Amino acid sequence: MRRVSVFGATGSIGESTFDLLTRQGGADTYRIVALTAGRNVRRLAEQARVLRPEIAVIADEALLPDLREALTGTGIATAAGDAAVAEAADRPAEWAMSGIVGAAGLAPGFRALAHGGTLALANKESLVTAGPLLMEEAARHSARILPVDSEHSAVFQALAGEDMDAVERITITASGGAFRDWPLEDLARASVAEASTHPNWNMGQRITIDSASMFNKAMEVIETREFFGIDPDRIEVLVHPESMLHALVSFRDGGMIGHLGAPDMRHAIGYALNWPDRAHLPVARLDLAAIGRLTFSAPDPARYPALRLAREVMAAGGLAGSAFNAAKEAALDAFIADRIGFTAMSGVVEEVLDRLSGQGGLGKPATSLDMVYDMDRSARRIAGEVIGETDRI
Ligand code: NDP
Repeated sequence: MRRVSVFGATGSIGESTFDLLTRQGGADTYRIVALTAGRNVRRLAEQARVLRPEIAVIADEALLPDLREALTGTGIATAAGDAAVAEAADRPAEWAMSGIVGAAGLAPGFRALAHGGTLALANKESLVTAGPLLMEEAARHSARILPVDSEHSAVFQALAGEDMDAVERITITASGGAFRDWPLEDLARASVAEASTHPNWNMGQRITIDSASMFNKAMEVIETREFFGIDPDRIEVLVHPESMLHALVSFRDGGMIGHLGAPDMRHAIGYALNWPDRAHLPVARLDLAAIGRLTFSAPDPARYPALRLAREVMAAGGLAGSAFNAAKEAALDAFIADRIGFTAMSGVVEEVLDRLSGQGGLGKPATSLDMVYDMDRSARRIAGEVIGETDRI
């Protein structure tokens, strides 16, 4: 039986993974090693009763008694705390889903690579903050990282059997998010509720807001660079409101291979779960004749300043990705807490990068995870200062 762990089991990616594991036989097909969550004890316990993992881990330590009580009599081990989540990754598993949101997902994914199996990587923050370290760790243990972000899964699939040397350009698409058609002058007044609704995808709140601001796409551009090792100037973003063509690879002979599919993460997750086979998956089939047409446009730099910031981060290199992600997470927290307006988020991130750049060290290569975490802490501290200086718009 294949040994499988799911980090971030109660989230949007985690629930889709749970759905697929269950449909593919659950505990009768897989030996579930670890299921982890941040705070949602009730759902974690429900999932654990179905999939019967060796251990269920909750990140919030105060919730350990609740988790223990919910799993009484099941024989499933329990643990709590950030360290326990990362330690769960030390339990050998051949396939692990990295589905925690934010920089908190880096450590468990990194440690899961030591088993030399497959890391299904949804947590894009891992590649943005520590791409080279993660790829080196995978190579050191002959582990495989399979992308789960729909665009990167699409690129991976388009590249099957192809030579990277023949690739001219990688294009990833973006829906344009909740405010694609809003007048620019209204963006500053956008509410958290309005930003938390995605036109096509059903995702966690943080990535949904990041889609509206295009910070999500900015992260994905960096992820593309780290995963496929392609120069930043050969990565393109196209606004594609229908979210059906996820990515395109352009080759030197003028051909382009694109990947189409319904906007349902169970495709990319199922692809990573069953790779190199293709299993029957419960995703809607596209009826292109009924859809009629697909549309594309270049992103408006004034509407989506995050894309420019991603280019600056890639140009700086080194620890800039960690600073970018941490500043973005802090700005997002402040927006969700109604401390800053929607458009102020990119201003906060830019100011943090400027201040860190002035101090030097932003582009220094990360040679250890500690360096990544140090930069993360510095960027969050500076973001706190900048947010404190920012008037609520
Ligand atoms: P969600 O917010 O829906 O879920 C996040 C998961 O991580 C939950 O299980 C949550 O637990 C857990 N979690 C949150 N904070 C912590 C923490 N500090 N320590 C440990 N666990 C924690 O996020 P998504 O599923 O939307 O996204 C997960 C990742 O996948 C992100 O990196 C995102 O960018 C990426 N991704 C998501 C896509 C999507 O369709 N949702 C598409 C492509 C990529 P709890 O439920 O208890 O809070």
